[in-house]
Amino acid sequence: MILFGTRTYLQQLAILTLVCGRCGNPSAHTLRKRVMKFTLFFIPLFPISTKYATQCTFCGAEQQVPKEQADGLLATAAQGGAGAGQPQPGAGQHAPHGSGPAA
Ligand SMILES: [Zn+2]
Repeated sequence: MILFGTRTYLQQLAILTLVCGRCGNPSAHTLRKRVMKFTLFFIPLFPISTKYATQCTFCGAEQQVPKEQADGLLATAAQGGAGAGQPQPGAGQHAPHGSGPAA
Protein backbone atom coordinates (compact mmCIF):
# COMPACT_ATOMS: atom_id res chain seq x y z
CA MET A 1 0.00 0.00 0.00
CA ILE A 2 1.32 3.39 -0.95
CA LEU A 3 0.25 6.38 1.05
CA PHE A 4 0.47 9.62 -0.83
CA GLY A 5 -1.16 12.98 -0.72
CA THR A 6 -0.47 16.66 -0.61
CA ARG A 7 0.51 19.10 2.04
CA THR A 8 0.27 22.85 1.95
CA TYR A 9 2.88 25.12 3.44
CA LEU A 10 2.22 28.76 4.18
CA GLN A 11 5.12 31.15 4.34
CA GLN A 12 4.88 34.81 5.16
CA LEU A 13 7.30 36.70 2.97
CA ALA A 14 6.76 40.34 3.81
CA ILE A 15 4.43 42.92 5.23
CA LEU A 16 3.62 45.76 2.90
CA THR A 17 1.57 48.88 3.14
CA LEU A 18 -0.85 48.79 0.24
CA VAL A 19 -4.16 50.37 -0.53
CA CYS A 20 -6.69 47.60 -0.21
CA GLY A 21 -8.87 46.94 -3.23
CA ARG A 22 -11.82 46.01 -1.06
CA CYS A 23 -11.91 48.33 1.93
CA GLY A 24 -9.83 51.09 0.36
CA ASN A 25 -7.64 51.54 3.43
CA PRO A 26 -3.89 52.02 3.09
CA SER A 27 -3.25 49.23 5.54
CA ALA A 28 -0.65 46.56 6.15
CA HIS A 29 -0.89 43.60 3.85
CA THR A 30 0.87 40.33 4.36
CA LEU A 31 2.47 38.77 1.32
CA ARG A 32 2.28 35.03 1.56
CA LYS A 33 3.51 32.12 -0.44
CA ARG A 34 1.50 28.95 -0.46
CA VAL A 35 3.37 25.88 -1.59
CA MET A 36 1.57 22.63 -2.15
CA LYS A 37 3.85 19.63 -1.93
CA PHE A 38 3.39 16.08 -2.98
CA THR A 39 3.89 13.73 -0.07
CA LEU A 40 4.69 10.06 -0.01
CA PHE A 41 4.23 8.31 3.30
CA PHE A 42 3.75 11.78 4.79
CA ILE A 43 7.16 12.89 3.59
CA PRO A 44 7.02 15.98 1.39
CA LEU A 45 8.89 15.26 -1.81
CA PHE A 46 8.47 18.08 -4.31
CA PRO A 47 6.29 21.13 -4.77
CA ILE A 48 3.30 20.76 -7.06
CA SER A 49 2.15 24.34 -7.12
CA THR A 50 3.29 27.65 -5.70
CA LYS A 51 0.88 30.51 -5.27
CA TYR A 52 1.26 34.00 -3.95
CA ALA A 53 -1.38 36.10 -2.29
CA THR A 54 -1.69 39.32 -0.37
CA GLN A 55 -4.05 39.65 2.54
CA CYS A 56 -5.34 42.89 3.97
CA THR A 57 -4.91 42.96 7.74
CA PHE A 58 -7.73 45.47 8.01
CA CYS A 59 -10.60 43.63 6.37
CA GLY A 60 -9.01 40.25 5.72
CA ALA A 61 -9.52 40.29 1.98
CA GLU A 62 -7.12 37.94 0.24
CA GLN A 63 -6.04 38.51 -3.31
CA GLN A 64 -3.96 36.18 -5.39
CA VAL A 65 -1.10 37.78 -7.22
CA PRO A 66 1.06 36.36 -10.01
CA LYS A 67 4.63 35.46 -9.15
CA GLU A 68 6.01 38.43 -11.08
CA GLN A 69 3.95 40.83 -9.00
CA ALA A 70 4.91 39.06 -5.79
CA ASP A 71 8.57 39.40 -6.77
CA GLY A 72 8.05 43.08 -7.40
CA LEU A 73 6.36 43.55 -4.05
CA LEU A 74 9.18 41.70 -2.34
CA ALA A 75 11.75 43.90 -4.01
CA THR A 76 9.83 46.95 -2.86
CA ALA A 77 9.72 45.61 0.68
CA ALA A 78 13.45 44.85 0.61
CA GLN A 79 14.21 48.40 -0.40
CA GLY A 80 12.05 49.73 2.40
CA GLY A 81 10.01 51.49 -0.24
CA ALA A 82 6.78 50.59 1.44
CA GLY A 83 7.20 53.59 3.66
CA ALA A 84 8.00 52.67 7.22
CA GLY A 85 11.40 53.24 8.71
CA GLN A 86 13.29 54.43 5.68
CA PRO A 87 16.50 56.12 6.76
CA GLN A 88 16.96 59.53 5.26
CA PRO A 89 20.43 60.34 4.00
CA GLY A 90 21.92 63.29 5.82
CA ALA A 91 19.62 63.18 8.80
CA GLY A 92 21.26 62.01 11.95
CA GLN A 93 24.77 62.09 10.59
CA HIS A 94 27.52 63.33 12.81
CA ALA A 95 28.28 66.64 11.21
CA PRO A 96 31.53 68.10 12.44
CA HIS A 97 30.94 70.97 14.80
CA GLY A 98 33.11 74.01 15.18
CA SER A 99 34.29 74.22 11.63
CA GLY A 100 34.35 78.01 11.99
CA PRO A 101 37.22 80.10 13.26
CA ALA A 102 35.72 80.27 16.75
CA ALA A 103 37.87 77.95 18.82
ZN1 LIG B 1 -8.99 45.66 3.19
